[in-house]
Parts: sequence; structure tokens; C-alpha cells
Amino acid sequence: KQVRRRVLVTGGAGFIGSHVVRLFVNNYPDYHVYNLDSLTYAGNLENLRDTEKASNYTFIKADITDEKGIFNLFEKYKFDSVIHLAAESHVDRSIKDPLAFAKTNILGTLNLLNAAKYIWKGDFQGKLFYHISTDEVYGTLGKEGYFTETTAYAPNSPYSASKAGADHFVRAYGETYDLPYVISNCSNNYGPNQFPEKLIPLFINNIVNRQPLPVYGDGKYTRDWLYVEDHAKAIDVIFHHAEKKETYNVGGFNEWENISLVKLLCKQMDEKLGREKGNSEKLITFIKDRPGHDKRYAIDATKLSKELKWKPSVTFEEGLSKTIDWYLKNEKWLNHVTSGEYKNYYASHYR
Ligand code: NAD
Repeated sequence: KQVRRRVLVTGGAGFIGSHVVRLFVNNYPDYHVYNLDSLTYAGNLENLRDTEKASNYTFIKADITDEKGIFNLFEKYKFDSVIHLAAESHVDRSIKDPLAFAKTNILGTLNLLNAAKYIWKGDFQGKLFYHISTDEVYGTLGKEGYFTETTAYAPNSPYSASKAGADHFVRAYGETYDLPYVISNCSNNYGPNQFPEKLIPLFINNIVNRQPLPVYGDGKYTRDWLYVEDHAKAIDVIFHHAEKKETYNVGGFNEWENISLVKLLCKQMDEKLGREKGNSEKLITFIKDRPGHDKRYAIDATKLSKELKWKPSVTFEEGLSKTIDWYLKNEKWLNHVTSGEYKNYYASHYR
């Protein structure tokens, strides 16, 4: 069978990557999807049990910081496009170990750029390097305003600085070597398969186990939230239809203060678990603020919705309800990832 495109997805065993891999494998049977992942604590092949037997899917265990290994893989498989998601992704971890973030997020991205540039040798017909980035590169907002594609970068955490660095390199390869690229900067994702160090799955797990819900500072931090499958659909649309050398903001038009979000989560969980109204809210505990904590992120996704006709398919209440149902049904997945190393991390972090 003729393979129309050879798509390398990096970080496909992670949270967002697994949804992207599944969507591309199912929607494009004439593409071959290569999932390259080093399987860090955040990578989990259980996320793709339903996909791994597809004939148009290959898993490659490799590390993007391994320069030679990455070149060899590009030479062997002749990828014509890259959807690059592999990254260290947790802000709290970046505060403890910034260097690990520079290595994976900046040097890893450079290795992929160099390998693509080398293998494509200036023949960019049908080629694309797509970097998945975050709205955190823009820094923080006051009460008003939105991040647009032209907002100046002002990253405040080692995580966002490393993603900003990667974005700049991708752009520079476009300007310097004419490498065809797109970048999308997305707001906070939530949904099935998210590692429970992140707010929503952490709190679902803690509510089930009647553990404290650690809320930073005054709980007034504001974030825009997008259901992960809607992000995967945006990535599909951008991959296929975006103008080359463009940037797109992706968001849910869905801003929540942390404390209101946590209360909504508690309410839905009380209903689903048959607990008395107000029961889970009692678990909320305010903890010392994170240094460099950005007050508000809000994303203007007008360019994407106008130019490429994308919009989120679920409301936040629907997405949250689906997410809780998934975690309640997949207790085994949750127990597996919350044992071992994670337990120590959690204990040292949320004392
Ligand atoms: P994740 O931490 O769940 O997954 C990251 C994946 O990358 C894991 O499977 C991990 O094993 C893999 N990985 C890490 N280091 C690697 C290395 N050196 N070589 C190969 N693989 C490696 O992250 P996520 O939340 O799915 O985020 C995916 C991407 O989307 C990241 O680039 C992140 O910056 C970006 N992003 C995330 C969000 C969000 O809300 N989660 C929002 C916007 C952008």
C-alpha cells in the first residue's frame, strides 16, 4: 500500500501526544505514524493500547537529546513531517531542575531541526516541522487583555523559557534555512491520560481518596482550559491547512480562576460519587505560592477559528464531566502511575 505521508510524532506516549497519535492513526490510514518517545515518568504506552496494533503505526523508543540516534532515525524512516510534542512539561519540576528542561526542550528541539534540515536537503515540497508550544511563553496578563500571536515573549518560569527558546529556534530555522514550520501556542489542556501531577487529575485522585486539595496562593490564578481532544483536532487542522511559517494560538475561550474550577470539580465529583453536597470542598487547602507564578493567562484564538474554522467541541462542564468519568473508570491506570517514583515526588512536593 502506498504511504502518503511519514509523520513523526515526538512525545506520543504522553498526555497530548497520545491523543494526537490516535487521531492521526485513525483518520489517515494512508499515513504512517511514527511515535518517538523516550518514556520518561510522563510517557506511558498504556495510553495507546487501542492503537498500537494498527498497521500504520510504529513506536520508536528514543531520546530527542541523542543527536546521533535522531539523525539515524531520520535517515532510516525518511519522515516528511514532524509534530514535535516531546518535552519536559511540568512547571514545578522546572523550578527544581531547569537544566533538564533546557536539555530536552531546547537541545532536543535543535536535534530534530538539524536532522530534518539535513535529511530534507532543501527539498521542502510536502515537508513540515510543527512545534507544539504553550501560551506560557507570553508571560502573564493583568485583569484585562488577551495573548495574541503578536504578543511579545516574556517567559517567567524555566519551563516557559525553555519552550520560548525552542520556538525561537524553530522560527530561526525557517528564516535562516527556509525550513517550513508552524508553531501553535496552546492554553492549559485537560482530559483523559493526563499525568496526575497536573491540577485536574491530581485533584480528581485526591477527592476520590479524600486527600487535601493543595491550591496555590489565594486561588485567584486564572487559566484558560481546553479539552485535550479539541487540542488534537486543532493540531490536525493546523498540520493540514496552516500557512507555513505562521503561528497560531489555540485556546478554549474558557477562563477560570483556580478556586472556582476546584469548586466546580468538587461539585461534579460529589454528584458522581454520591457524596453529600459540599463534602469535597472541605478538602481545599491553600499552600504557599509558587515563585514566578503567572497571575493570568488568556488566549485569543480568533486567528485559528477565523482562518481555519476550528472551535472547541465541548463546553468546560461537559469536558470536565467526561474527564472525571474516565479517571473513575480507569482506576488501574491511575493506581499504576501514582505508585513508585511519583509517590516520593508527591510527598516531597505537597507536604
Ligand atoms: P507530557 O509530559 O504528558 O508528555 C511528554 C512526553 O514527552 C512524554 O511521553 C515523555 O516520555 C516524552 N519525552 C520527554 N522527554 C523526552 C525526550 N528527551 N525524548 C523523547 N521523549 C521525551 O506532556 P503534555 O502535557 O502531553 O505536553 C506535550 C507538549 O505540549 C509539550 O511540548 C508541552 O510543552 C505542550 N503543551 C502542553 C500543554 C498542557 O496543558 N499539557 C499546553 C500547551 C502546550
